[in-house]
Amino acid sequence: MEQLFYRSTRGAGEPVTASQAILQGLARDGGLYVPERIPRLENTLEELAEMSYPETAYAVMKQFFTDFTEEELKGCIAKAYDSKFDTPEIAPLRKAEDLFYLELFHGATIAFKDMALSILPHLMTVSARKNGVKNEIVILTATSGDTGKAALAGFADVEGTRIVVFYPKDGVSLIQEKQMVTQKGANTLVVGIRGNFDDAQSGVKAMFGDRALEQKLQAAGFQFSSANSINIGRLVPQVAYYVYAYAKLRKQGELGPGETLNVTVPTGNFGNILAAYYAKAMGVPLGKLVCASNENKVLFDFFRTGTYDRNREFILTSSPSMDILVSSNLERLIYQVAGQDPQRNAAFMEQLNRTGVYTLPEEMRGRLQDFYGGYTDEAGTAEAIRQVYQAAGYILDPHTAVAAHVAKAYRQETGDTAKMLVVSTASPYKFTRSVLSAIQPEYGRQEDFALADALSQLSGIPIPRAIEDIRSAPVLHRTVCEKEEMPKVVKGFLGVKSES
Ligand SMILES: *Cc1c(COP(=O)(O)O)cnc(C)c1O
Repeated sequence: MEQLFYRSTRGAGEPVTASQAILQGLARDGGLYVPERIPRLENTLEELAEMSYPETAYAVMKQFFTDFTEEELKGCIAKAYDSKFDTPEIAPLRKAEDLFYLELFHGATIAFKDMALSILPHLMTVSARKNGVKNEIVILTATSGDTGKAALAGFADVEGTRIVVFYPKDGVSLIQEKQMVTQKGANTLVVGIRGNFDDAQSGVKAMFGDRALEQKLQAAGFQFSSANSINIGRLVPQVAYYVYAYAKLRKQGELGPGETLNVTVPTGNFGNILAAYYAKAMGVPLGKLVCASNENKVLFDFFRTGTYDRNREFILTSSPSMDILVSSNLERLIYQVAGQDPQRNAAFMEQLNRTGVYTLPEEMRGRLQDFYGGYTDEAGTAEAIRQVYQAAGYILDPHTAVAAHVAKAYRQETGDTAKMLVVSTASPYKFTRSVLSAIQPEYGRQEDFALADALSQLSGIPIPRAIEDIRSAPVLHRTVCEKEEMPKVVKGFLGVKSES
């Protein structure tokens, strides 16, 4: 097969192979790796309709990760999509009212991050072997709540790796925090920072760009990589579930041949919806890609006006994994609509970094027609949870509820009646308090684990293993630091000396 190479969205440096891009995470010039072209699906949708989830994942990934052998890639897939998921479908579909929900929360940590983070550690260790890397790989991750636990679960006790996760101390749900601070594995470290997610993310980015720190680590036998959604090894596995969902709806007769399927995605860092864009470019008949935001509606404003402006108040909401003002993966889309011109993209990113704002010219905005931005506030989120429960007996988590609200509003605003897929990104069990108080306010007074019991009664769905496991688990991580102290904490964990 023809090799597919990857380039930085900011242009410096030579193209690299898929395995090199996965190992590196962020490109050295601060850009994100993108494939030189998006491959067309080799399999027909009729063929794909007969495939299992792992088979679909292979059909998609082999076209992007061309320097992996069939055996390597199938080995990674087999280790990822196994009994860690509570259903062999891996990503089941559920119809409620007239929307199709793609449930991506059946993995080990009951959020959609498991779809990519259960495979990334395997892609990374294979990549290290392929490239003769002897250093230990140190994964640095900033999390708005769900990535952290999914990455910890994926990398814990994986030989040749360590993982450090930073989360905003007061910016995640109680269950999200408990999931992380109870993480076992001597190669893991979990740190709360006094700041918000963007502080955590920019602190991690600064460490990736710190050449002096890099040399120090190199001398001690370590190198950094990233498990954040900037890593192409996270983006590509996510393309698979859009292909899978379309093919399954086709097989079930919900879609006719070539019929358009719209998609609504609850969005934070823009990784999940970008995977839908890639799936569409591969040839899946997807229509509008509806980008749903909560009150941190930077992306909504961007799609309406062409101006990206992060200079605004950061709002803590009931959908914390979408509380993001700088959506890293948007850079890959900007690069695309800038005609794959890295200098042009780099200029926008430089503006964003310096002033917090950039505006696309008309001609670039014209290339954003695949997308539609929507948002809802806290009241709209709670209303969607209550309304879908009352109409269909189906319980949404707050992130999915934002998407459901926006999907319905999109239909009303535009009159577009095409079938709609809503991407369901977390189990309601991760956000019991918000979910139950939306349905019935008096629940709000019970403690969180009692709420899990109440939710089980209401939904008839048993409490997931991920929640049972942490009920009584001891807290193993207690480090809290200022954002300026992040490099010191990392060096301490690795036993690398800090000068004063
Ligand atoms: C991470 C996350 C999102 C946002 O996904 P992006 O790829 O960052 O846009 C939405 N919902 C949940 C539950 C998440 O964990």
